[in-house]
Amino acid sequence: MIPGLEVGPSILTNIEILSLPAVPKSLVVVGAGAVGVEFASIFRSFGTEVTVLEMLPRLVPVEDEEVSKELGRIYRKRAIACHTGAKMDKVDQTKDGVSVTFTVDGKQQRLDAEKILIAVGRKPLTEGIGLEKTKIKPDRGFIKVNQWLQTDEPGVYAIGDIVLGTPQLAHVAMMEGIVAVGRIAGKTVKPINPDRIPNATYCHPEIGSVGLTETKAREAGYELKVGKFPFTANSRASIVGQHDGFIKIVADAKHGEILGVHIIGPQATELVAEAVTAMELEATVEDLMFTIHAHPTLTEAMLDASNSVYGLSINV
Ligand SMILES: Cc1cc2nc3c(=O)[nH]c(=O)nc-3n(C[C@H](O)[C@H](O)[C@H](O)COP(=O)(O)OP(=O)(O)OC[C@H]3O[C@@H](n4cnc5c(N)ncnc54)[C@H](O)[C@@H]3O)c2cc1C
Repeated sequence: MIPGLEVGPSILTNIEILSLPAVPKSLVVVGAGAVGVEFASIFRSFGTEVTVLEMLPRLVPVEDEEVSKELGRIYRKRAIACHTGAKMDKVDQTKDGVSVTFTVDGKQQRLDAEKILIAVGRKPLTEGIGLEKTKIKPDRGFIKVNQWLQTDEPGVYAIGDIVLGTPQLAHVAMMEGIVAVGRIAGKTVKPINPDRIPNATYCHPEIGSVGLTETKAREAGYELKVGKFPFTANSRASIVGQHDGFIKIVADAKHGEILGVHIIGPQATELVAEAVTAMELEATVEDLMFTIHAHPTLTEAMLDASNSVYGLSINV
C-alpha cells in the first residue's frame, strides 16, 4: 500500500479486487506494471471505465520500449485511458467512491471513480520471524543469497519473492526451490541466469519476453541486429482474429547470439517458451532461421522474426 493510504471499500489492492460483489462503473489503476495492466485489461473487458496512472514514462516499464508503445496504442483503441509520468498526489473518499488527484507535466488533475486499485508492488514480510538471531541482515526486508540460494546463516536457504535482486515471479520461486533443494541433496543443479527468466503478462493482448531489451543491450555495449515481425502477416493470427502486436528479436551483430525476445500479441506468454529454450541452449538467430515451424501456427512468427533480423523475412 502507498504510505498514508488504507484499504477500504473503494481503495483496493490485488487482494480485495478479486472479491468485489459487482463490476464497478469506473476504476483507477495506480501502477502500470504487470499486475496493473492485467487488472486494467480485465475490468475494461467487463465494461468498466478504466484509467491507468503510472509514475514512470511508459506502461510496463520493464519491457522493451516498443512493447510499451504498442500496448499504449492498443489500450487507447480499447478506450483505456493511460497517463504516464503521472504522480498520484492524494486520494479522497467521496460519497460514491474516490476522488484522485494526480500531476502530469506539472499540471494537477482530478478524477472521480468508484474504485481505485493500488498496484505498485509487494514487499517482503520477514520481520518477527527470528532473523535477528541469525547472521542474516535483511535489506529493506529482502534476503541476500548466493547463486545456490544460501543466506549468510550457514544451513539456511531463501527462495521466492523475499530473495534480494530476483524478479517476484512464481516460476522464479519454483526454480529457486529446485536449485536450493537440489543443492541440499547434493545433486547437480544450475544457478539461475537472470537473462533467461521469462516475463509473462496476462493483459490483452498478452506480453511475453526474455533477456535484454534493445536499450539495455545497447547500454551493455553490444552492437546489435534487430528483427521485428508483425502478427498482421501471420496466418494463424488471421485465423484467431488477433492481429495486434509483433515479435522482436534483439541479437548480437557479431555472432547472431540471441540477447532478447519481446512479444506482444496472441499467446505471447506461450510463444516466449521457444525463445527461452533457444537462449538456454545458446542458439543463434541462424539456428532459429533453419528450424522448421509448422504452418499455420503463431510460432511461425518466431521464424519470420528471426529471418527479419537479416532482412530476409518471407511474409512481409
Ligand atoms: C496479483 C498478482 C498476480 C501475479 N501474477 C503472476 C503471474 O502471472 N506469473 C508469475 O510468475 N507470478 C505472478 N505473481 C507473483 C507470484 O504470485 C509470486 O512471485 C509467488 O507467489 C512467490 O512465491 P513465494 O512462495 O515466494 O511467496 P508467496 O506465494 O507470497 O507465499 C508466501 C506464503 O508465506 C506465508 N507466510 C508469510 N509469513 C509467514 C509466517 N511468518 N509463517 C508462516 N507463513 C507465512 C504467506 O501467507 C504466503 O502464503 C503475481 C502476484 C500478484 C500479487
